[in-house]
Amino acid sequence: MALETAAPVQAKPIILDLSRSELEREVVDAMGQSRFRAKQIWQALHRECILDFEQITTLPKAFRAQLAERYIADPIEKVYHLTSADGSTDKALFRLPDGELVETVLMRYVADNHRKARKTVCVSTQAGCALGCTFCATGQQGFRRQLTTGEIVAQIIFMQRIALAEDRAEVEAGERDLGSLQGVTNVVFMGMGEPLANYDNTMSAIRSINDANGLAIGARHITLSTVGLVPQILELAGENIQINLAVSLHAPDDETRSETMPINRRYPIATLLSACRRYVEMTDRRIFFEYVLLSGQNDTTAHARKLGEKLSGMLCHVNLIPVNPTEDGPYQRTGRDQADRFQNVLRRYGVPSTVRIEKGIDIDAGCGQLRARVLDEDAIG
Ligand code: SF4
Repeated sequence: MALETAAPVQAKPIILDLSRSELEREVVDAMGQSRFRAKQIWQALHRECILDFEQITTLPKAFRAQLAERYIADPIEKVYHLTSADGSTDKALFRLPDGELVETVLMRYVADNHRKARKTVCVSTQAGCALGCTFCATGQQGFRRQLTTGEIVAQIIFMQRIALAEDRAEVEAGERDLGSLQGVTNVVFMGMGEPLANYDNTMSAIRSINDANGLAIGARHITLSTVGLVPQILELAGENIQINLAVSLHAPDDETRSETMPINRRYPIATLLSACRRYVEMTDRRIFFEYVLLSGQNDTTAHARKLGEKLSGMLCHVNLIPVNPTEDGPYQRTGRDQADRFQNVLRRYGVPSTVRIEKGIDIDAGCGQLRARVLDEDAIG
């Protein structure tokens, strides 16, 4: 007698994977509905942040049921949602339809002399990461899979709901005008994974969140962070999109950089910086260099001098980031004094820099750290 095996469950497609024009084609050509219905769906998902077809009450009930049969509306299920003690940072851990875990952070910054108040979401683009940077908890977990466009966009929509609810509470308390609802103002692609290694889905997520009829996050308020995948940096330069590019440099010479970032063996610093110069030429946009300060490893004044020499004359800005140490990692946080000394050396080379304020330390807001803790707890539990 033949053994009966269950047919593999075919996962439904995620509606947020579709661009606005793809959604319109689906709704008009495949579902026989009007363009107006497509517009209503897009606005409900991307502007009103309703990721439940049943709740889109502007649509007829039968059509809502049809959509639910065909698509997944919300591809991320919340596992954890924590707020830091000072209320400045929220961090959420999500389970994807196949069980993979990713995390997202919302950081609230108050206005200062230079910048307006803002709410920045840090999103993940891959489950795990193949690039193995030694200071990074995600890198230590290995690569699991690429996130789809919709899985990336849904993380921002989740945080937008929180940000808008806060804005509305301020309106009720008379602290804000109804016309000034802002929600999420900035998005940084700096969570788990290397966004340029998931190029197409990352770019299509950027186009979705930039759409004027959706979340409408301005391109200049979007920052993509890479460890330095040279071919993709050059491809991005040709996209004619005004987003910010941040390159994780973390060391001023190949020997030091290769110790913590294996990618440096494929694209050494000279190759990377020449691609960065080309990017600046093609886009006329400033490049941001991320430099995680690791005590004793890359934070001495000699390192600062080498960095200053390499970046001098380039249209760039260096973000100096005292590292979030992982529990069993070998690195210590650089003190504020040493960070200031480093910055002073860069200043002498005419290279602008800032020491980035760390957010959410008490809730493990460093890349990959919350997921690592949940997995530990699962293993114990
Ligand atoms: S720092 Fe970024 S690129 Fe490096 S391992 Fe972590 S997630 Fe991957």
